Amino acid sequence: MCPKGKLAGRRTLLCGDAGGFVDAFSREGIAYAIRSGQIAAEKIAEIIKEKRTSSMGSYEKACRKEFDENLQYSHTVSKYIYKFPAQFFNAFIRDDRLLDQLLDIPIMKTTYKKILFNLLRNSYHHLPGLSLKN
Ligand SMILES: Cc1cc2nc3c(=O)[nH]c(=O)nc-3n(C[C@H](O)[C@H](O)[C@H](O)COP(=O)(O)OP(=O)(O)OC[C@H]3O[C@@H](n4cnc5c(N)ncnc54)[C@H](O)[C@@H]3O)c2cc1C
Repeated sequence: MCPKGKLAGRRTLLCGDAGGFVDAFSREGIAYAIRSGQIAAEKIAEIIKEKRTSSMGSYEKACRKEFDENLQYSHTVSKYIYKFPAQFFNAFIRDDRLLDQLLDIPIMKTTYKKILFNLLRNSYHHLPGLSLKN
């Protein structure tokens, strides 16, 4: 989840690590730093073009829309994986497809939500601590 604090002031924007955009499972932040920088540039260009009719708040809204869900699910997934590392390690090395999906996260080709639902759907529900109730 993005940090609850403000990500934009009247003349300032927080991008990357400064915005708290870091994956809770892998601790990776480069992709989020690049993407939030791109969003910042887009929003600043819009403000300049529209002669300040839009506000820096649109940056915060766009980042929350794009990052919030995946960062929130990165917490959920890491909670399970770090609690039962051996079982998840085995599940990932036994299933190339699942491992590929995990590696697609840093390049933003898939999301933790999809991985979590695949784990549940593809009979990984026998893994400790992983059930729809949790
Ligand atoms: C050891 C380590 C390994 C990592 N490995 C990975 C990885 O494999 N993959 C991954 O995705 N992420 C990794 N990360 C995280 C990743 O490095 C950060 O998430 C990413 O660099 C954040 O980019 P950023 O631009 O927000 O901040 P930064 O890259 O930290 O850039 C901030 C810049 O601002 C400068 N600065 C600070 N204060 C001031 C000031 N007052 N005035 C002017 N300049 C200032 C700093 O010198 C720095 O150059 C790793 C982090 C660490 C510490």
